[in-house]
Amino acid sequence: MSGNVILVGAGPGDPGLLTVKGREALAQAEVVVYDRLISPAILAMIPEGAEAIDVGKRAARHTVPQREINQILLRKAQEGKHVVRLKGGDPFVFGRGGEELEILAENGIDFQVIPGVTSAVAAAAYAGIPVTHRDCCSSLHIVTGHRREGKALDINFRALVQGGGTLVFLMGVGALREIVSGLLEAGMALDTPAAMVERGTTPRQRRCGGTLSNLPERAAEMGISSPAVIVVGQVCAQAEKFDWFSRLPLKGRRILVTRPKERAGALSEKLRALGADVTEFPCIR
Ligand code: SAH
Repeated sequence: MSGNVILVGAGPGDPGLLTVKGREALAQAEVVVYDRLISPAILAMIPEGAEAIDVGKRAARHTVPQREINQILLRKAQEGKHVVRLKGGDPFVFGRGGEELEILAENGIDFQVIPGVTSAVAAAAYAGIPVTHRDCCSSLHIVTGHRREGKALDINFRALVQGGGTLVFLMGVGALREIVSGLLEAGMALDTPAAMVERGTTPRQRRCGGTLSNLPERAAEMGISSPAVIVVGQVCAQAEKFDWFSRLPLKGRRILVTRPKERAGALSEKLRALGADVTEFPCIR
């Protein structure tokens, strides 16, 4: 029997943002190959008996190289296994999903892709920022702030600024100052509203708001670190007013659910929907 690989977007953090189709694929998996930043509540959905392979582990700051991940997917599928490749956010939004499909296609392996909720949109939404708004922008640009080793950012700031749309930078924390000066040099106004959302959609989400000119200073004061998105544009101006997530009644509370695994899920889901930071504590069945 031949195996297959399903790329599944796990969403940005809140386990409730995993799609129904993604959850079903996970329930059928025999092998799950997963990244860093996948919520423990989603990892808990991996069926008992399935092989779970963590390729996001940081041993001496090195994750498993992409080439090796591709090989694992190929090998397991060739062994006849149903493989789920679980990736943060959406698999094709700076997720290297395309690279993984290439090797599968070349080797005649069946594959499917289940899109996920990308952090580019969801972290903003949970921080009260609608990425588009009819009154102020007609486009949305998702940009990587990642530099190739030792190289400068490869971003056409002039084109971005001329476009006048909302800008969302992923992987941009380390390059924040460079991004801001690129935009200013390309003519963007100093007082353009801007924000950063750290660990978006998780109970530990933090938003840092300001203008383009003071964002680096404010982010440094708050110690904002990766993973975070940087959002630039008029849509950030109302974030304070629209910040529904941090006003949830159980926001900031940590709750330990001690029910047996089969009965914990429903309660945890309800508590999470009220903003609580829920940990399920396995107890004897
Ligand atoms: N495929 C993913 C993005 C992978 S690149 C997606 O669609 O979301 C990794 C970057 O995504 C991080 O550097 C950060 O910029 C962003 N990111 C991922 N999860 C995030 C979260 N919960 N909150 C804020 N940013 C996040």
